[in-house]
Amino acid sequence: MENPDLTVEAEARPSGRIQRANSLAGDVYEAIFAQLMSLKIPPGSRITVDNLVREFDVSHTPIREALGRLEGEGLVVKTHLIGYRAAPQITRRRFDELYELRLLLEPAAAAKATATLDEERLTALREAAGVMARRVGKDERLRYSNFARQDAIFHDKIMEFAQNELIRETLNHQHTHFHIFRLMYHSRVTEEALDEHEAILAAFAAGDASGAADAMRVHIENSRDRLLPAFE
Ligand SMILES: [Zn+2]
Repeated sequence: MENPDLTVEAEARPSGRIQRANSLAGDVYEAIFAQLMSLKIPPGSRITVDNLVREFDVSHTPIREALGRLEGEGLVVKTHLIGYRAAPQITRRRFDELYELRLLLEPAAAAKATATLDEERLTALREAAGVMARRVGKDERLRYSNFARQDAIFHDKIMEFAQNELIRETLNHQHTHFHIFRLMYHSRVTEEALDEHEAILAAFAAGDASGAADAMRVHIENSRDRLLPAFE
């Protein structure tokens, strides 16, 4: 495969080897996902299947498959007769609503999750947070998109351990992390978040429910403040 993004992704795989027949569709998906998250494909812009076919030097099938998957994740919109577009950027109003929702739900969930944590669950959370810190591959774009996905997994795991599926589904349904990470492509967005995740993990490890709630609140407020300049 000629595309450098795809090559780096192949290197970044834990197996270290690219299983071409099986992973082609997955690699194409990851490459387009990374371009959407890093704004190389700007929000609202048209996405032409033929252009992607040329860019990645693959057939139409994996491109259409990838776009279908991205549509399900709310990152791509398909319109009759027009075709695919990158989903528009969330509005300032929606952004405020999203963070209000997160601040209502996630600190309380973090407190509730604290009581359910055993070693196995703590390890799962540390692992989810740790994957983010790993600087795998040279491609910033892929690193950023992987971080966005891992952040979604980290927060979702806390929701899972808080044991309210309705709250978990409600947040999942918003594809929150994909939308907020697309507001700004900057290393600050990821690096400061890592320290805040550490603080949440420390409270979990200490069995400190109110500490976990506080750390989660601080993390979400800081995340909001980091991304606000995107609207200026
Ligand atoms: Zn986070």
